[in-house]
Amino acid sequence: MSHIFPRHAKSAPPVATGGAGCYLHDAAGKAYLDASGGAAVSCLGHGDRTVIDAVKAQLDSLAFAHTGFFTSEPAERLADLLIAHAPGDLDRVYLVSGGSEATEAAIKLARQYFVETGQPQRGRLVARRQSYHGNTIGALSAGGNAWRRQQFGPLLLDVRHIDPCYEYRLRAEGESVEDYALRAADALEAELERLGPETVMAFMAEPVVGATAGAVPAVPGYFRRIREICDRHGILMILDEVMCGMGRTGSLFACEQDGVAPDILCIAKGLGAGYQPIGAMLCTGRIYDAIAEGSGFFQHGHTYVGHPTAAAAGHAVVSAILERGLVARSAAQGAALREALDAVFGQHPHVGDIRGRGLFLGLELVADRATKAPFDPARRLAARIKAAAFEAGLICYPMSGTIDGRLGDHVLLAPPFIISDDQIGELTDKLGRAIDTAL
Ligand code: PLP
Repeated sequence: MSHIFPRHAKSAPPVATGGAGCYLHDAAGKAYLDASGGAAVSCLGHGDRTVIDAVKAQLDSLAFAHTGFFTSEPAERLADLLIAHAPGDLDRVYLVSGGSEATEAAIKLARQYFVETGQPQRGRLVARRQSYHGNTIGALSAGGNAWRRQQFGPLLLDVRHIDPCYEYRLRAEGESVEDYALRAADALEAELERLGPETVMAFMAEPVVGATAGAVPAVPGYFRRIREICDRHGILMILDEVMCGMGRTGSLFACEQDGVAPDILCIAKGLGAGYQPIGAMLCTGRIYDAIAEGSGFFQHGHTYVGHPTAAAAGHAVVSAILERGLVARSAAQGAALREALDAVFGQHPHVGDIRGRGLFLGLELVADRATKAPFDPARRLAARIKAAAFEAGLICYPMSGTIDGRLGDHVLLAPPFIISDDQIGELTDKLGRAIDTAL
């Protein structure tokens, strides 16, 4: 009997024993095409020698030194590299161990910034109903996923959630994309008016929504309007690129394509590419200076912040992404995958929408294409697609969407940037069969 506390107590997953390129293998020798990169983690694929060697070399010299006493060369190198390529005025990097830690730190930093700058009345956070920001209490409070939140209500912070920018379902008949961008963003303005803008510290959003709806980008103009609203009311814009950052959408940071830069940016997943657990929160010099010139101490800190071995992995991963031209490859193979999805699913009676950016793409499944009616949740379609794909040797990321409870079934695809044209063919072929089996 296993003593592991598994993710799903009612399932017995196979034992993963190895990985090479776009494939993972289990103990029985079965190969799986990793078309979701775990959950948008494995951007370089599996078994990347450069990253493995960088981690080994770091372990040989210095595995760990507590940041209460030391900084380290890999942490400094990684921070320099990230800031050299970061958008806007982002100037400081706070290294953590994963995505939830990055968003949790962002929420606390926003609050401390206003305390340190003499605006202690600013303590409210606004986020979106279609979002996932992690599973720790603050991050879970920020997220709008009703299913993940439902048991924990009494523990959650009072975060206000507005509608997302979700063109497929929320753009009105006959409404132009430009008008919809403004209407969707103005939901923030309306919420600020309700709350009293002077009580709000920040707005948090994913530029491309991942784990709650399968790769939903905002329409052009939405985030520019959001930026303008945040600036007008003096609130911070926190962008969560834990999933969609690090080249995943065809630009190093997803927000570059929206023409905006945040005050605080969260990254993780592709930053370590699975070789080490690492995430980061980047903030502007203005925010950092407020702390540095104030109390001097960000009231946060976990034992493993700035972990040297994780930082060495992160540095090797970001260097590989940049030096091997993998951002452009994510854009090019993303376009190829999109074309293949359009060819296979464009006329499918139960695929209502195909969307996303770069190698971050999603399908939305519907009972009826004309009315966009979702399937009955009792059918557990997403779970059955996942099982059928896995059986066929394909790892993808099906999920049930949420805006107030369940809305539709989605499949998220986020394969390694090195995916070949043949592997794209294998992906769409296996996915098509898995969907049809599950239906
Ligand atoms: N933010 C986003 C956008 C995510 O997709 C996730 C994980 O899926 C997280 C935060 C949480 O990251 P982690 O699972 O590394 O804690």
